[in-house]
Amino acid sequence: MACIAPRSRPLVLRGTLTTFRRRCGKATCRCAQGEPHESPALVFTEGGRTKTLTLSEKEVAEVTAALARYEAAKEELDAAANAGLAKLRGRRQSRRGERQ
Ligand SMILES: [Zn+2]
Repeated sequence: MACIAPRSRPLVLRGTLTTFRRRCGKATCRCAQGEPHESPALVFTEGGRTKTLTLSEKEVAEVTAALARYEAAKEELDAAANAGLAKLRGRRQSRRGERQ
């Protein structure tokens, strides 16, 4: 029996990749006067709340791919659901046709 470990499964993520800007609070830091620190972040909703997860630069590519995986799977599922609906409708129309 094939056993697929969760670790071998590609990462799937839901949310939006964004840039998180913040001031660290240190009075001597360049961010106190100038540009705030920037880091890539994933914004997503969990339990009805919007949450932010800051990412390292090297995680960006992985997260981007994981978000694309989710979108692709969602589109596939939506397409299947639309096809299902069309099938159900078609069944009704052909039934109606039999009666006539
Ligand atoms: Zn700072």
